[in-house]
Amino acid sequence: MSALRRRISRQVAVGEVRVGGGAPIVVQSMTNTDTADAAATARQADALWRAGSELVRITVNTPEAAAQVAPIRERLDAMGCSVPLVGDFHYNGHKLLAQFPDCARALAKYRINPGNVGKGAKRDEQFATMIECALRYGKPVRIGVNWGSLDPELLARMMDENASRSEPQDADAVMREAVIRSALESARQAEAWGLPAERIVISCKMSQVQDLIAVYRSLAERCEYALHLGLTEAGMGSKGIVASTAALSVLLQEGIGDTIRISLTPEPGGDRTREVQVAQEILQTMGLRAFAPMVSACPGCGRTTSTVFQELADRIQTYLRTQMPLWRESYPGVEEMRVAVMGCVVNGPGESKHADIGISLPGTNEVPVAPVYVDGKKTVTLKGGRIAEEFQAIVENYVKHKYGPDAPARRPGKEIKIKTV
Ligand code: SF4
Repeated sequence: MSALRRRISRQVAVGEVRVGGGAPIVVQSMTNTDTADAAATARQADALWRAGSELVRITVNTPEAAAQVAPIRERLDAMGCSVPLVGDFHYNGHKLLAQFPDCARALAKYRINPGNVGKGAKRDEQFATMIECALRYGKPVRIGVNWGSLDPELLARMMDENASRSEPQDADAVMREAVIRSALESARQAEAWGLPAERIVISCKMSQVQDLIAVYRSLAERCEYALHLGLTEAGMGSKGIVASTAALSVLLQEGIGDTIRISLTPEPGGDRTREVQVAQEILQTMGLRAFAPMVSACPGCGRTTSTVFQELADRIQTYLRTQMPLWRESYPGVEEMRVAVMGCVVNGPGESKHADIGISLPGTNEVPVAPVYVDGKKTVTLKGGRIAEEFQAIVENYVKHKYGPDAPARRPGKEIKIKTV
């Protein structure tokens, strides 16, 4: 994995998961079910966890939702799902945490939005109640500022201060500073009430890429709190993925960010676990963590007019991903395997040789054969109508021999013998 230098923050324990302090960057996600529906929420939290989400946040917005948090935890435990749950509170979190102690206990972390804690004199009192609950139950908190719900009083005060300057800044710069100040002042207030810095995570989510980058660079210089990264309201489909990737990859490359969430808007009826997959792929393609073997495939061009290589790349990627829940235990290290599926002889053999295992399919007018490369050497040439099945069998064999209990890396002195078909 990458030798990028990372900003070292205070480490925060969220249940069994470690955030910051040099721990691997944590992937998290959020349910979109009604938390009052314990069965649906537990089902989705479990699906997110099985997809690889290491923390799952749930909305806690009503007494009915708060009453179901402990039963959701029990359901998850009964399903063998140990993912820590984070409670997302706005407006009435002080009441819900105080009135539902089972909820406060069952959650592994509380997310508090300082812009939605209360107004005027009530703000400090209500925020203090939430911090008291965190202290009473030994929980960490995320001070999660969102520019869309920034404390209006703070912003108005800072705009007035700025207007009275001889050289005022532009409104965007003041807004970004207000977001940062809201997070840092709230975190320091929580510390003043006794919450250790090792129990505080900060986030300042913005919806524009350049704003997010500027805010997190500044935050990283000004504090040692663990940082949760995410572009808020990223959007649907490719726009959401591209915007999140653009913003997060700049920051991650600079070593900033201890946990990430990709806030994708699912298509109607779409799969919520997509956001987990995207988060993992960002980290893996940047060389920061490995979650599942990755398939390199060429984009295709006029030299290959059939869809065979696209179908094979898709089939192999799907196969690898579905095998991972089983393979993770049995074949440690398999997540770093690289597979290449290429469309013709131009780049096919070269790319296949650089992967752990690769196949170069025939382009238009090429001899209809598909050479397979294992650890850089050509081992077999496939042909006929069962190339996909045979290549999948070769991949499976490779995994067993390279990452299984008898693998040379786990049993020194033995050579890999790859069975080909
Ligand atoms: S490997 Fe062949 S088919 Fe694929 S993009 Fe390159 S030239 Fe085109």
